[in-house]
Amino acid sequence: MPIKELPKSVSSKIAAGEVVERPVSVVKELIENSIDANAREINIRVNEAGKTLIEVEDNGEGIPGQEAEIAIRRYATSKITSIEDLDHIRSLGFRGEALASIAAVSRFTLETQFHAEDRGTVFIVEGGEKANQADLGRTHGTRIRVENLFYNVPARKKFLKKDITEKRLIAEMVSRYALYYSKIRFSLVMDGKTNITTYGQGDHREIISQIYDLDTAKRLLDINFEDSHMAIQGFTSPSGLTRSDRKEIVFFVNGRLVSDPTLTSAVLRAYHGFLMTPRFPITLLFLTVSPEDMDVNVHPTKAEIRFRDQGRVFNAVHSAIRKTISAFSPVPVFSPDIWSSQENRSYTPDLSWKFAQEEFKPENQNSLNGSTKSNDAPLLIERVPLLRLIGQLGRMYLAAEGPDGLYLIDQHAAHERVLYEQMSRADNLGPASQMLLEAKTVYLQPQLMELYESQREILSEVGFISETFGPDAVKILAVPAIIQHLDAGDALKAALEADEEDEKLVDHTIEKKIISKICKRAAVKGGQVLSPAEQENLIRELENCESPRTCPHGRPTMIHLSVDMLARQFGRLGSR
Ligand code: ADP
Ligand code: MG
Repeated sequence: MPIKELPKSVSSKIAAGEVVERPVSVVKELIENSIDANAREINIRVNEAGKTLIEVEDNGEGIPGQEAEIAIRRYATSKITSIEDLDHIRSLGFRGEALASIAAVSRFTLETQFHAEDRGTVFIVEGGEKANQADLGRTHGTRIRVENLFYNVPARKKFLKKDITEKRLIAEMVSRYALYYSKIRFSLVMDGKTNITTYGQGDHREIISQIYDLDTAKRLLDINFEDSHMAIQGFTSPSGLTRSDRKEIVFFVNGRLVSDPTLTSAVLRAYHGFLMTPRFPITLLFLTVSPEDMDVNVHPTKAEIRFRDQGRVFNAVHSAIRKTISAFSPVPVFSPDIWSSQENRSYTPDLSWKFAQEEFKPENQNSLNGSTKSNDAPLLIERVPLLRLIGQLGRMYLAAEGPDGLYLIDQHAAHERVLYEQMSRADNLGPASQMLLEAKTVYLQPQLMELYESQREILSEVGFISETFGPDAVKILAVPAIIQHLDAGDALKAALEADEEDEKLVDHTIEKKIISKICKRAAVKGGQVLSPAEQENLIRELENCESPRTCPHGRPTMIHLSVDMLARQFGRLGSR
């Protein structure tokens, strides 16, 4: 179909909004155009996180020389002519806005040759104004070069994130398209370094091993589901393969990368009881529905869609995932015997209820250094009294009695605190490290590899002894002792993975952040049954902490129901 400007009656019905918010939006729109042009190969080059250059080259059908100028106009498209066309749309594009929006905020060069013509065209636009058009000798497909993005919109430029973040967004976006469109060859080169290469052989697992790692590719479970309304294919985590956030829950619907809270919650519900919270699966879900059953015209960047029947899609996704994971792992496994070495420690309740911190803060200390701290005693408030264990509640909390009432302790948060202080307290040599009997090789995605290289020193200070092993792998020789019962590779990844919660710890050193990630991973989870000895130990160790009342992220480890408060609630106050 020729490229034509949509009549006002149609363009006014296109969901309004900004198409190009950041470099990754440009990459996405250009990739989609190449896919719509039936390209078999798409090569992407990005310099300085897309701020100086984004180039996308394809071997698709190309644009007729006469139409190059029209392609860059707003609402000019070859993909629809009427709004009804959207009911049975097969292409990714339909808005006719991308090239216009991109060309308006950059120096834009289009080189293209239509497959049925024997000469190409080069067309240059600067800040939305045509700067030059010329014949180009024989070329192939289309190459679009976007330079100096947002040079004329400083406000937009100011809102870009750090380069490393913009680069991560681009790599994520490209890797997702490369994965879904497994028969197209993709390459992504950033600042001259190859980030992604796929071979167009249609092998999803091969691509997963490229963009995640080999281990993930081996472990992900196949999803295959079909009913009369839709087909669902893809890959999803077994219960042991998890992430710290939901970023790796990805949906393609009819070839479109979309984010949809309904779909996400269907996935998370399906995992209920299979994963420790707050961990998330890797789920790559490819849905095929009839185009009539969804509306694609609801969001300016086409990142959201609306299903005609949300409930039906929710149920289908939920049961597709649930079937896959229950077939694989009938019973959730709760493993480690974390305190086994201390199992024989026994405890006799101290009926005189002295404060645990008194052992650490002899009374004469204040008179020695002349401090008056004994009165305002922040330590006293921070510390907890000796507690008498009552028992475990709902595999989640410990109940204990103190001289001043009832304590409910969050077992995960409390253990995180205990481990965190143990690791931070370690002597000059740093936290204890445990050599592995056999070195463990772990494959890292390019972004993690980059982080690994920049943080290797700190990692070794906290107990990970390791070395690089080729361009995308690390050999681990020793791990921090507190996590020796965990998989060394998973633990290293956990230490590197960006964790939104840790990002909030602004005034923490990187070392402390890494320690807190390790502790989070190593701590017992909610849902884990603890033996009475383990419960006792956790309470004893918590009493010994400097800041027992909060986890390293500042969340409470315990709730205190005071004697007064209980009395009030039971209507007894005053009768005492
Ligand atoms: P849309 O994709 O919504 O139609 P765009 O602004 O992205 O709008 O592109 C305008 C038109 O330019 C497309 O409809 C298509 O005809 C043409 N076009 C853009 N990129 C390419 C490409 N890589 N190969 C062939 N044609 C392209
Ligand atoms: Mg487009």
